[in-house]
Amino acid sequence: MKQLLAQLDETPTDIELLTTLLDVRGADAEILRDAATECMHAHVGDNVYFRGLVEVTNRCHLNCYYCGIRRDRDIPRYTVQADDILAAARLCSRLGFGSLVLQSGEIRSDSYVNFICDIVARIKRETRTVQQPNGLGITLSLGVFSRTQYQRMFDAGAHRYLLRIETSDDSLFARLHPPAQSLAERFEALNTLREIGFQVGTGVMIGLPGQTTRMLAQDVFTFKRLDVDMIGMGPFLPSSDTPMGHAQILSSAQRLQLGLNMIAVTRLVCKDINIASTTALEGLHPHGRLLGLQYGANVAMPNLTPAENRVNYKLYDDKPTAQSVDGAVAAIESIGRRVAKNVFGDSKHFFNRCS
Ligand code: SF4
Repeated sequence: MKQLLAQLDETPTDIELLTTLLDVRGADAEILRDAATECMHAHVGDNVYFRGLVEVTNRCHLNCYYCGIRRDRDIPRYTVQADDILAAARLCSRLGFGSLVLQSGEIRSDSYVNFICDIVARIKRETRTVQQPNGLGITLSLGVFSRTQYQRMFDAGAHRYLLRIETSDDSLFARLHPPAQSLAERFEALNTLREIGFQVGTGVMIGLPGQTTRMLAQDVFTFKRLDVDMIGMGPFLPSSDTPMGHAQILSSAQRLQLGLNMIAVTRLVCKDINIASTTALEGLHPHGRLLGLQYGANVAMPNLTPAENRVNYKLYDDKPTAQSVDGAVAAIESIGRRVAKNVFGDSKHFFNRCS
């Protein structure tokens, strides 16, 4: 195992090697975890950055085959009122989280972009404090838009954007999405976001039906090739009332270990990026998010969506209930990490690539 890790230092984009590392289990997985932790300490330190998450709306114009809030699903739909988003942002600020994430289904209309831009500008204005004179940092994760629409969001004050590709494999992408969607469109959007000046993130699902470990190795290679600043990825959790709800998949234990190995290998390959430990890990293990942090992640996203809306933002069936903030901080401190307060927690990679 030590030899494989040394080899990775020499050839970080060797697909065979990445595949072998992603498949390790037991004692070898622990060695992989420890190497990722060491790499994290060396390149981004041991801070954990919190982003308060607000799931703005579960409305979506798209119909991804795996998704619990896809357009054709007959579920109660909501959009959080602007004042309630602002209240969540103020709470986020009071709690000392330096950043907020606004996430939603994909609605490409100008009226939705207007709504988002107004909210972003208000959050920036109304969350200025002595500790954070520029207000909260804002990450958006809202899907694909035109260059003009992205530019407006950036000008309004958002400075990070997460757009997941879900897989870098064209044929697998086509099995997950209706024909109107393409991987090429997402790559182009990521490029546009980067040109505008956003810190750019992407991510994939892990343990999808028909996905091989080699495809996941290709995903890690793609993160490196795209030179992204942030990664948000997690295990596939089925949503029963969808076209992929009952597909044959790996066991929970297998998907969990694969998800953790993906974090570790991505850390070792991409080094100074931010990596989120996502809710989906908790859907497979009661301490999944903590395990993600132990495998090299450095971002956590406590959910601040109003409780009455949160129940209707279910991308998959086993969405865990929200953990108390105090509980999350205590758990993080129990593994020897510290939660950074009142800072954006930007990706070091962004500054390194721009310098
Ligand atoms: S995955 Fe995103 S874009 Fe696709 S249906 Fe779900 S919310 Fe919409």
